[in-house]
Amino acid sequence: RCRTSGKSYAWFDQDSTVLQKRRLSIMSELRQGLKNGEVNFAYQPKVNLLSGQVEVVEALVRWNSTTHGFIPPDEFIPIAERTGDIRHLTDWGLETAIRQASDWHNQGLEIAVALNLSANDLTNHRLPDQVMGLLNRYQLPIRLLKLEVTESAVMHDMDRALAVLNRLHDLGLFLSIDDYGTGYSSLSYLKQLPMDELKIDKAFVLKLASNMEDQILVRSTIELAHNLGLTVTAEGVEDAQSVELLRQYGCDMVQGYHICRPVSAADLETFVRNQKEN
Ligand code: C2E
Ligand code: CA
Ligand code: CA
Ligand code: CA
Repeated sequence: RCRTSGKSYAWFDQDSTVLQKRRLSIMSELRQGLKNGEVNFAYQPKVNLLSGQVEVVEALVRWNSTTHGFIPPDEFIPIAERTGDIRHLTDWGLETAIRQASDWHNQGLEIAVALNLSANDLTNHRLPDQVMGLLNRYQLPIRLLKLEVTESAVMHDMDRALAVLNRLHDLGLFLSIDDYGTGYSSLSYLKQLPMDELKIDKAFVLKLASNMEDQILVRSTIELAHNLGLTVTAEGVEDAQSVELLRQYGCDMVQGYHICRPVSAADLETFVRNQKEN
């Protein structure tokens, strides 16, 4: 099985038994790693271009395995999706994100946490009740949790995903369509989804300042999204010129290394507090 994502740690490489062993071993260790506290979130701010404030942070999972060292999410999440272990990551992620947002809320920091869901999660019809139960348990206002789903995760099992997403949306959860532009979505399909936000994939944003085609695509995507009533976040913003262009295009939120890398909860608090003073 080969994919064309251009990743250098290609565990699917057929003639590499070393990598196959690594994959098997990773599969068997994720659950334990979650229990042992080897898994954490890094939080990356999304800044509102109008207010200049951090209103949302994206929770990005980090696994520091005792046996394998740091394993990037792009490596272990696809494996966990195949084995079904992603369920345990999602259970952990939901509770961790909600607990963190609730801690901040109790300290007077109104920072919403955006959690990434995977294809498997969208086929789980119990997910909406699980989310509501946790929000209730941690007394978190629903606006302080956001969920990101990719187009390909939705397409994986469109009917079931739509049922879960509609339910979440009806309950009042804010939903983002992630990695927009990298899949095969059509406009009619975008219209069917109960979304509040569109995130333009970093592939179109990383070289925005120097690439005219990207400028055209990003600009028209923002216009399209706004016409559909969606807010827009651009991810992968790495330089000041890109921020300026995105501002001109009317983009709502920016996220990327130029603003802040994904950081620990403590560093995130410092970042937010410093920013509020400026
Ligand atoms: P994503 O949701 O598209 O997340 C954005 C990725 O872009 C993150 O990579 C982030 O660190 C990176 N990034 C942010 N700003 C910049 C920038 O300015 N330049 C560049 N070059 N990259 C930037 P990361 O943390 O390695 O996560 C990779 C993917 O793993 C995520 O892509 C998401 O699909 C998945 N993922 C991460 N955490 C979770 C999780 O808790 N659950 C699930 N299901 N998936 C997750
Ligand atoms: Ca995301
Ligand atoms: Ca993304
Ligand atoms: Ca991505």
